[in-house]
Amino acid sequence: NSPKIIEAFERELKAQGMEQEARVVKTGCFGLCAMGPVVLVYPEGAFYTHVTPDDAAEIVSEHIVKGRIVQRLLHKEGDAAEKVTSLSETKFYKNQFRIALRNCGVINPENIDEYIGTGGYEALGRALTQQTPQQVIDAILASGLRGRGGAGFPTGRKWQMTHDAVSPDGVKFVCCNADEGDPGAFMDRSVLEGDPHSVIEAMTIAGYAIGAHQGYIYVRAEYPIAVHRLQVAIGQAKEYGLLGENIFDTGFSFDLELRLGAGAFVCGEETALMTSIEGKRGEPHPRPPFPANKGLFERPTLLNNVETYANITWILNNGPDKFAAIGTKGSTGTKVFALGGKIANTGLVEIPMGTPLRTVIEDIGGGCPNGKKFKAAQTGGPSGGCIPASLIDTPMDYDSLGAIGSMMGSGGLIVMDEDNCMVDIAKFFLEFIIDESCGKCSPCRIGTKRLYDLLTKITEGNGTLEDLTTIEELCEHIKQSALCGLGQTAPNPVLSTLHHFRDEYIAHVVEKR
Ligand code: SF4
Repeated sequence: NSPKIIEAFERELKAQGMEQEARVVKTGCFGLCAMGPVVLVYPEGAFYTHVTPDDAAEIVSEHIVKGRIVQRLLHKEGDAAEKVTSLSETKFYKNQFRIALRNCGVINPENIDEYIGTGGYEALGRALTQQTPQQVIDAILASGLRGRGGAGFPTGRKWQMTHDAVSPDGVKFVCCNADEGDPGAFMDRSVLEGDPHSVIEAMTIAGYAIGAHQGYIYVRAEYPIAVHRLQVAIGQAKEYGLLGENIFDTGFSFDLELRLGAGAFVCGEETALMTSIEGKRGEPHPRPPFPANKGLFERPTLLNNVETYANITWILNNGPDKFAAIGTKGSTGTKVFALGGKIANTGLVEIPMGTPLRTVIEDIGGGCPNGKKFKAAQTGGPSGGCIPASLIDTPMDYDSLGAIGSMMGSGGLIVMDEDNCMVDIAKFFLEFIIDESCGKCSPCRIGTKRLYDLLTKITEGNGTLEDLTTIEELCEHIKQSALCGLGQTAPNPVLSTLHHFRDEYIAHVVEKR
């Protein structure tokens, strides 16, 4: 509906003679999907929600022409019920801290001038003219930034390893993993749709830091708006001399190309992704060698995901110490989560690392709808695990989530209420993995199918207690012997639900007797 709303506002502004007084700016996602489509009217900052094209006439005639807030569409909270509440004061936003999403919903992503207006490309200019590649890497190391794609490997160390790696012909590459595929996850998509230049600038800086002159963004073809905005942004950056030959007249050159993924989940695995960019079938292969030494086209390659890159210029513009002061000691900065499932405020949230899950569920998310009780949250998608209600005060950081058998993952956060069957949840994620397994190794290809059959036997009331032991043994076997991360982590949802909700598995078995 958003393009129709934009059209309706442009039409109404013209019809009511206000096209000189007000301008319609198309932005990326605000994050609060549950209230969408949303329209913000400045300078008041009135936050209108659930807007339709038919509302444009009233907002223009009342608000733009007469200066009166349209109460029926205004987002209202608590005491400030009839007053305009600034976005940062709303329950949804006030516990958030936006670094990766800082420009989403704020600037027009198809206008490079708006990005430059927020300080865009300053970090690149400073890096190329005032810093050595090692100084740039030192800043990323000092920030403590860890990869936001799931594994949490320290980003600065990855940059250092790729910088230090020797290429036979001096050629190195920078890649961006934009092949987001976890069920319910749309963090990277929103960054690319809302702030594509932040990724382009960061990748160019990375190229300078490691000594690469060519980058690739591997992005899902199912993200047509993200692809379009990246194409527009790359074209604009080249036009402004910020990408391509002799950037800022420093002699440094860097070019970027898009490669579209055909939607195979396994192509988000780093070795499969690079194989796919090379034009081959996207299948993982064993490591070592690691991409930092021998990656794309057998050259040293730096691969980070979208959200990781979206943090880079903020770190360089604000200083690594400021970034390191946010979050926890082992997990600095912020993390974006896609909040979905049985939660009132579905949407995209960015919180300081270490924020308790309770804050995300109760304050930002507004709790489960219809007065239902919160039962569990799944982080990390099909690679992750369930956090039960008894652990709702767990801090959301790499180490705390790992300690309870879950994981940060790329940022999918699916909420379950009292009506959800946890065995069904485990089956759902397993079914996803079976569909997406590339089939190269038998533990994943056959083992996950066998696991699914056992779960089905249990949910259909034909399981036995011995089946639970078989499931646990099979899970361990798959974890130990699958070739890539997709298979190695496939048993996680089963193991974590078995651990935290064993009574539900047993209830299925006992009910039959
Ligand atoms: Fe393919 Fe699964 Fe083996 Fe990975 S673990 S290589 S996805 S079959």
